[in-house]
Amino acid sequence: MSLTLVYNELYGSLHVPLFLKPWMESFERPERVSLTMCKLRGYGLLEYLNVVSPHPASKEDILSVHSPYLYDLVRELSKFERGEVGSSSFTSKDTFRLACLAAGGAIEAVDLVLEGKCRSSLALVRPPGHHAGQSHASGLCFFNNAAVAVKSLQRRGVRKVLILDVDSHPGDGTAQIFYSDPSVLVLSFHEYDQEVAGAGWLDEKGYEKGEGYTINIPLPLGLRGKPYLWVFERVFHNVAEWFKPDFVVVSLGLDTHYDDPVGNLFLQALDHAEITGHILSIADEYCRGRVSFILEGGYSLLALPLSVAAVISRIVDSKIEYYDEIERGGSPPQHLKRLVASLLDRISSYTGP
Ligand SMILES: [Zn+2]
Repeated sequence: MSLTLVYNELYGSLHVPLFLKPWMESFERPERVSLTMCKLRGYGLLEYLNVVSPHPASKEDILSVHSPYLYDLVRELSKFERGEVGSSSFTSKDTFRLACLAAGGAIEAVDLVLEGKCRSSLALVRPPGHHAGQSHASGLCFFNNAAVAVKSLQRRGVRKVLILDVDSHPGDGTAQIFYSDPSVLVLSFHEYDQEVAGAGWLDEKGYEKGEGYTINIPLPLGLRGKPYLWVFERVFHNVAEWFKPDFVVVSLGLDTHYDDPVGNLFLQALDHAEITGHILSIADEYCRGRVSFILEGGYSLLALPLSVAAVISRIVDSKIEYYDEIERGGSPPQHLKRLVASLLDRISSYTGP
């Protein structure tokens, strides 16, 4: 099988975080993935996959990225019915258990690919992770699943990892964790969002030895599929050609869908399939196809299952029918073309890792 899906039934049942006001439920809820599994079954896509159930990440795995302070804080707060660990990171009694299981799912996903048991993998995990930094939880995220997985790859001798973050929001926690590490390039495409204060800007480039290895692409709100892909293709291909990764880890945020209640970009499932196509071709070209997709955001219970199905159908080369088609837009605005041109100039000035 070319694709392994990492999934545990508990992702679809545990951790229903309540906001501090008890009548407000979080949109980061179990149905996101349980309905996605129903959709994959309905499309017949599970026949193309191995489904593997992961183990929770160990304390050592979590501490390879996070401080003991954050680990203890999430564990202790999860003893109560509700709490808040960091900005918009609400806990329930299941949070610690599920956060460890999500990080374990990400590790399983990369390990299976590294061991040659599948060509690519997709971890259908929750809660998401990419806003969690070394010592802080943030934006629905507690432990950084992608970062914990990358640390596992590093321990097993993988030299250069490209983390591609396509969530609607910047992978700010991931960037912080690897900010001075030149062996991990963090490339994040996201909406220009002033609410995520101080994160995801063009001039955040990394620090000391890591300078140049954080690349942020802030995009205008409302951007549609064609201009998004115009930018994505140029930047991603150039960055990959320069960095030449040994492994690609994708922070697969699908809240870029126009139906998403949180994201402000206007992509659709067809666009997510095309983005996946570019990722596969880069993985084929530079790292023998080795790529793991790890679910981040995506909160529309209609759009997320369809977009995950679109990604998987592209990987396993099976056609599915979309029902979310909107106009895909045209050429990108001039300022975005200038941004891409200056970024490519910057990349071409780097001498390579
Ligand atoms: Zn997001």
